[in-house]
Amino acid sequence: MSSQAPLSDASLEARVELAALAARYHAAGWMLGTSGNLSARVADDRFVVTASGCDKGRLTPNDFVEVDPDGTVVGAGPGRRPSAETSIHLAVYGPCPEVNAVLHVHTPDSSLLSQGSTNPSFLDFTGFEMVKGWGLWEPAAVAQLALFDNHADVPRIADDVRAWLTTKPAVPALVIERHGITAWGEDLTAAHRHVEVTEFLCRVARNGGPEPD
Ligand SMILES: [Zn+2]
Repeated sequence: MSSQAPLSDASLEARVELAALAARYHAAGWMLGTSGNLSARVADDRFVVTASGCDKGRLTPNDFVEVDPDGTVVGAGPGRRPSAETSIHLAVYGPCPEVNAVLHVHTPDSSLLSQGSTNPSFLDFTGFEMVKGWGLWEPAAVAQLALFDNHADVPRIADDVRAWLTTKPAVPALVIERHGITAWGEDLTAAHRHVEVTEFLCRVARNGGPEPD
């Protein structure tokens, strides 16, 4: 697809929904300074991702790129380029065909969590009511939030995430140390809920809750 080709209905719909969500996150202080990136699957092998360097409070349908599973840009608005963090989105979509939305935000409380001794290390929220928002309804459900090292070389983070996802974790979110949250779901509504639950629990951890292993 060239940059001049018309957008598919699915692509345009995803862009409008992602722009609206980005505006909410920007207003909440979770996507300031052009940070963060949001994406959605618009076909089996195609993903719409917010473009790099755009004000997340004022996105238009042009402020996105479309990539294939390898990260090759297959469509972009004029002058738009993908974020390096696109690799983290693709690391989630790859092993998780049921996932149709991935959201990455730089929230205050997730940014202040410190890693434990392993990569990933884990914060154990088992027994906390809020984990139901992650879809973990059984009282004994193990609710371990993974914390990853933040590397300047972003594809290295993506490699760590991809390897961890092969363990089929129950929690649909992760934290990158001193960086932010990535959460995902079968649709945008679920992925958004997972972002909110994760930031809430990061705040709990910051206020005397569980510490990383
Ligand atoms: Zn980031």
